[in-house]
Amino acid sequence: RGHGFDVNAVRRDFPILAERVNGKPLIWLDNAATTHKPQAVIDRLAYFYQHENSNIHRAAHELAARATDAYEAARNKVARFIGSPSPDQVIFVRGATEAINLVANTWGRQNIGAGDEIVVSQLEHHANIVPWQMLAAASGARIRVIPVDDSGQILLDEYRKLLNSRTRLVAITQVSNALGTVTPVQEIVALAHAAGARVLVDGAQSVSHMRVNVQALDADFFVFSGHKVFAPTGIGVVYGKKELLDSMPPWQGGGNMIADVTFEKTLYQPAPNKFEAGTGNIADAVGLGAAIDYVERIGLEAIAHYEHDLLVYATHGLQSVPGLRLIGTAANKASVLSFVLPGYRTEEVGKALNQEGIAVRSGHHCAQPILRRFGLEATVRPSLAFYNTCEEVDTLVAVLQRLARRN
Ligand code: PMP
Repeated sequence: RGHGFDVNAVRRDFPILAERVNGKPLIWLDNAATTHKPQAVIDRLAYFYQHENSNIHRAAHELAARATDAYEAARNKVARFIGSPSPDQVIFVRGATEAINLVANTWGRQNIGAGDEIVVSQLEHHANIVPWQMLAAASGARIRVIPVDDSGQILLDEYRKLLNSRTRLVAITQVSNALGTVTPVQEIVALAHAAGARVLVDGAQSVSHMRVNVQALDADFFVFSGHKVFAPTGIGVVYGKKELLDSMPPWQGGGNMIADVTFEKTLYQPAPNKFEAGTGNIADAVGLGAAIDYVERIGLEAIAHYEHDLLVYATHGLQSVPGLRLIGTAANKASVLSFVLPGYRTEEVGKALNQEGIAVRSGHHCAQPILRRFGLEATVRPSLAFYNTCEEVDTLVAVLQRLARRN
């Protein structure tokens, strides 16, 4: 592949892309919901169960050592992938949702009290809203919301006005799953820190599309889901700054997270084990490591470059459809196109596309507040990955043009 990017070679790595749907080649444009798995990840899972399967951290036998090594190697890969200074700052969880709930229930319960303020943006996925509302309800804290402009980009001046001495946390997505907006996370973090607040960055929609470095961002917490970055479902990550993880109480209690247990007193392990009670998702963590190896081989820079061109191409294509209203037109976007087509309900568009083998999401995308900002309850959302092609986009646009002409 050299330094170029060969999309046809990449496509051969993903066996599911050869599927047919309704007699047509599958066109997968639902990557913001979940991504497909390259053969390397599928093979790695099978290898784990064929040669390494064991519980970890516990036994003297050979397979326990193999499984532990594979699991901890995956943690190392995640740490390098996101620029964590140490693998000990990488906690495995089920996904971004569990990651945010973990931070809300540990650091949040310890540091957020009555009268404190939690700032979120209007763009957030429900996973980065509801856990903070639950925490606010339990603690007497207040949620404040950064508004967006008509392009779907957050308004930095309004954000500045929201920050004050009561702000404890800013919880912000790096890329919006509903509109594709890339937010100015670096500035958001710097402004929060200047106000004395901590920042959780939701990287669920960013890590598969761009190079992320948590130290360059100076994020206090960073979370993502494996399944959106070509890894299995059921595995995700919380990154946290060391001093925060050290001072946070555990969330779930049980095996693996303890140093010593008596009925009088239990001593906890240091992070990451302190936050990994019970038997974790060992195989899928190993699968996440393989997915990271895979995308690193292609290169996040090459991926970002290819996807940028594809997004521009798809944007122009959609704009050629009579009457189509594109929602989310920020200058800086990744992967996601969101639209409504007058005369059609969004699920009608989704069904018509499915007839042609095209998978998109239609609905509220677990981000109702941002759609309502644009006066909508639902949109149609094609979302791109590096295995999508201009020809696939052409097919999408052709079906939409046919629908639009029937209006
Ligand atoms: N945040 C964002 C921005 C997302 O897109 C998603 C998934 N749609 C989540 C959080 C939640 O991820 P998961 O469902 O994998 O826990």
